[in-house]
Amino acid sequence: MSEVSRDAFIDGRWVPGSRRFAVRDPFDNALIAEVTAADEGLVDAAIDAAVRAFPGWRARTGPERGGMLRILAALMLEGEHRLAMLCTRENGKPLRESSAEVRYAASFLSWFAGEAERVYGETIPASYPTQRLTVGREPVGPCALITPWNFPYAMLTRKLGAALAAGCTVVAKPAEQTPLCALALAELVEQAGIPAGVVNVIPTDDAVRIGGRLLASPAIRKISFTGSTAVGRLIFRNAAEDLKRVSLELGGNAPFVVLADADLDAAVAGALVAKFRNTGQSCVAANRFILEAPIAELFTQQLVASIARLVAGRGSDPGVELGPLIDDASVAKVQRLVTDALAKGARLVHGTPPERGSGRLVAPVVLDRITREMAVWREEIFGPIVALRTAVDEADALAQANDTDAGLVAYVYTRDGSRQARMAEALEVGMVGVNEGLVSTAQAPFGGIKHSGLGREGSRHGLDDYTSLKYIAKRL
Ligand code: NAP
Repeated sequence: MSEVSRDAFIDGRWVPGSRRFAVRDPFDNALIAEVTAADEGLVDAAIDAAVRAFPGWRARTGPERGGMLRILAALMLEGEHRLAMLCTRENGKPLRESSAEVRYAASFLSWFAGEAERVYGETIPASYPTQRLTVGREPVGPCALITPWNFPYAMLTRKLGAALAAGCTVVAKPAEQTPLCALALAELVEQAGIPAGVVNVIPTDDAVRIGGRLLASPAIRKISFTGSTAVGRLIFRNAAEDLKRVSLELGGNAPFVVLADADLDAAVAGALVAKFRNTGQSCVAANRFILEAPIAELFTQQLVASIARLVAGRGSDPGVELGPLIDDASVAKVQRLVTDALAKGARLVHGTPPERGSGRLVAPVVLDRITREMAVWREEIFGPIVALRTAVDEADALAQANDTDAGLVAYVYTRDGSRQARMAEALEVGMVGVNEGLVSTAQAPFGGIKHSGLGREGSRHGLDDYTSLKYIAKRL
């Protein structure tokens, strides 16, 4: 792939900046592209374009907007291989996963294409015969979309689909590590016939400055952010000044509970998906495995046997199932978590602790005897480290599962219908997988409670944050 230089996408044009930053392959650090670093001038130009395009875009009918989203989804699917190769190149994930991400990302556009036709209002029974009360939904206005590197297409389309369906225009700021996927999507936006200024993409290697500019602009009426809880908190605080609408999809610390009566083959299969998708770099990654005592040893043995067969390497090589971690800081974090756990009494069940300077390809490590004093219990691992802890019974497993500030997703494996219901209801999260290791899908509401965020993306609820209710009382 010969990416050379890429520019910002503003008002339907490719706009160079005064400076560029390097995008590198996380596997070998090879230079992939030099990308325009948006400065304040480009941010302002993108905001102006989104403001100018807003009246025309909101005035289109829902079916018209939906039609364009459908074309955009079709273009993504048509270009699946090319887009997947690009994603593997700048993110490092195995090609099979990149292809799955392209399809997953396109599914949000198709889903919201349908929702654009169903932005329904309400009629409310009035207290007087001469009065009519109605409620409609209007787009909130130009929105800023800030997305992470771990799912560079899907995290953007999950927002973009909803925003465009509702009639909002957008300024998107992709992550520094993965701007090329967002820019590839912008090319397709152009081809889909979406009018100039409706979608603007401003890459940057200075998120604090550019994010600050977006937050400070009174023209931006909503900010939708996916990323870490620390940055989400900062954005929430800064958005308060201008009372912008805020949606936050933040970090998780998912428990993966296996109760004594679970189908262990299904639990191991689910664990592999929940733990190792994107080499563990997912907000819904299983972070803490909680095993009811009677099956703890057998589950561990079966899981380790499956993990031992996983193939790590360059994402574009055939058969690779685990790619590199995104950067050196991520490798250092994983090293710190393993070292801390071992120092505090964890037992190494499988693998070798990653060593300093050994590169970004981190082989899976399985640790048991995890305790709540260990950092691995509190922090998102974001790597191929399996942390196991035993619970004495169902109540203990539930208490352990809820022992976190995060509340994004939880997984529970049990054949017993009553335990399924009890656990699913008592887990303090926004999403639960019951005998299911992959909950993400366009038609279901994705999002968390507690420190995992505010609002929902995907599903029919995904449009809510991009619309305001307008109530009209009419006297006849
Ligand atoms: P991050 O450091 O918070 O970055 C996310 C995005 O915010 C990037 O575009 C980043 O730009 C930008 N950013 C950083 N500082 C900013 C600031 N002061 N103002 C405005 N924007 C700023 O998170 P990450 O490490 O990329 O992503 C991993 C995190 O995302 C994990 O915690 C994961 O759980 C979470 N996540 C959550 C979901 C969900 O749906 N709940 C989905 C995926 C990921 P730069 O890249 O240029 O720094």
